[in-house]
Amino acid sequence: MNDKAYYVDTVYGDKGEIVFGEKRSDAIYHSEAYNEDGRSWTDIRAVRQPKYDQFAIEGSGVPKSVLLQGGWWFECSGINEDGRRCCKRLTAEDDPVIENEGVYCRGGCYGRHMDKQAVK
Ligand SMILES: [Zn+2]
Repeated sequence: MNDKAYYVDTVYGDKGEIVFGEKRSDAIYHSEAYNEDGRSWTDIRAVRQPKYDQFAIEGSGVPKSVLLQGGWWFECSGINEDGRRCCKRLTAEDDPVIENEGVYCRGGCYGRHMDKQAVK
């Protein structure tokens, strides 16, 4: 296993993620932008991220908590006070709740999300 971490995104900056691969081309080939969005190869950029290499060995992807510390943001996966998906952008400064790799606003969204799961 010589996988390295790459930050892969489209030239439009709308599909950022960390992808592991031996080479830059592997990372692009395994990216969401290439596989799910069907973007052409030339629309995708991959930049080395050595600080995340250690997670390739664990094979679990980079934990959200680590990415948050690295300056990333995630949309809240919880339910807001109106009963809708919250989708608020959360950064490390918001000190969000992270459960099963879902990111939630501190205060309410996670609890409402779990209540809804329980009803199903
Ligand atoms: Zn929320």
